[in-house]
Amino acid sequence: MSTDSTGAIPAAATPTTARMHAVTAENHDIVDRVLDYSRQRLLAAETPLDKPQSPAELARLAGPTVTEQGIGGARALSVFEHILAPACITTDHARNLSFIPCAPSKAAAAFDVVVSASALYGGSWQEGAGAVHAENEVLRWLAAEFGLPGGAGGVFVQGGTLGNLSALVAARESVREARREAGHPAPDRWRVVCSAEAHSSIGSAARVMDVEVVTVEVDDDGRLRGAAVEAALEQHGASVFAVVATAGTTNFGIVDELDAIGAAAARHDVWFHVDGAYGLSAMLSPLARPRFAGVERADSLVVDPHKWLFAPFDACALLYRDPELGRRAHTQHADYLDTLTETGEWSPSDFAAHLTRRPRGLPLWFSLASYGAAAYREAITGALELAHRVADEIRARPELRLVRPPQLSVVVFERVGWQKADYARWSARLLDEQRGFVAPSAHLGRPNARFAVLNPRTTFDDLVGILDTMAG
Ligand SMILES: *Cc1c(COP(=O)(O)O)cnc(C)c1O
Repeated sequence: MSTDSTGAIPAAATPTTARMHAVTAENHDIVDRVLDYSRQRLLAAETPLDKPQSPAELARLAGPTVTEQGIGGARALSVFEHILAPACITTDHARNLSFIPCAPSKAAAAFDVVVSASALYGGSWQEGAGAVHAENEVLRWLAAEFGLPGGAGGVFVQGGTLGNLSALVAARESVREARREAGHPAPDRWRVVCSAEAHSSIGSAARVMDVEVVTVEVDDDGRLRGAAVEAALEQHGASVFAVVATAGTTNFGIVDELDAIGAAAARHDVWFHVDGAYGLSAMLSPLARPRFAGVERADSLVVDPHKWLFAPFDACALLYRDPELGRRAHTQHADYLDTLTETGEWSPSDFAAHLTRRPRGLPLWFSLASYGAAAYREAITGALELAHRVADEIRARPELRLVRPPQLSVVVFERVGWQKADYARWSARLLDEQRGFVAPSAHLGRPNARFAVLNPRTTFDDLVGILDTMAG
């Protein structure tokens, strides 16, 4: 920035200094191109599944794009459209059945553009009251669906991993405080109890927090039972600060015995956290709702809208039964921040291990407001029905074997006689031929195939077509 001899900034910024920000012909063109591309992508009837490329191949195809003078918006977008985007697997493709796919509704995906275009800040009430109001309405709606009391609240964080970590930090803080007030000594080592089928993010949180994980065995059906948790709590006594139950394991969609586990945690004055990142959404469907009895006992829970609530990446709803406990554990203090916290207004930054945040709950809010909750119930019910229907199809095929009957919408099965390498070859070929994306999986050391069904555009014929490639 140049100044004249008096040190004053010239009245009109020169075109070069404001090139990136001014409303110029160049920026008109860039915005038009980007929005046209987004519009086309959002309204495309069919998008290719696409597949990764090697680093060398991408470097060769794309060439250097970050240069001192820039390559121009038109060329940069062209590189993205023709080289980079095709090297990204389409997570919302109807035949993407790997991991837990993403299937944003049209309204949710489109509104993500608005969130970016408006440079909305979602960390504090002062800066983002309108956005925070809308996010909180969604959080209250979710809390009511899960049977949490009216005072429950929380925040949308980046993902289930950060949600689980933030909840467990609040749990330890709250239990430590309660024990201190009761005059009990702090344990040498804090422990968290969960099942062997709990998500890897629980172990990750424990490492970050430097606490120990007590892994409790599940029953043959994969469910963590209240009695097993009770025994672990007896054994480890006051060193345990939290029990984590999974409401829909990632690998199989198994819902732990929430009611009995919550009761055991309550008897021992231990925090009860429910990890429902993938599965808790199924509670919106009457078909699955009864499986989640007891979730209303949770002190905290997470559910990922970027999984089964049709929101774009990345969003996890973290809810506390008593949000004050989350706030006490997480509020950051600094001279320049205290103006935000002293007003007593609801600031989402205060409820997790983060500060700056985009209001990532808004795409879900807009979609829910647009279509209504009933549309969500129907879409989730549809995925549950489809998963059970394809499980019947697998049962009917002699070369296939269901590893477990599906509970929610994950279907795990084996191809009789196949080794790990066979699954890997088959999966690579499926992707290569753009028939589907089904990453090989495994259970107890045995390789298998796994469908995670949640995209409302996935059809029975899509799944049967993939099963057919395993015959013969
Ligand atoms: C996906 C998942 C997580 C992790 O969530 P991210 O959003 O990927 O961080 C945690 N727990 C369960 C049960 C999950 O399915």
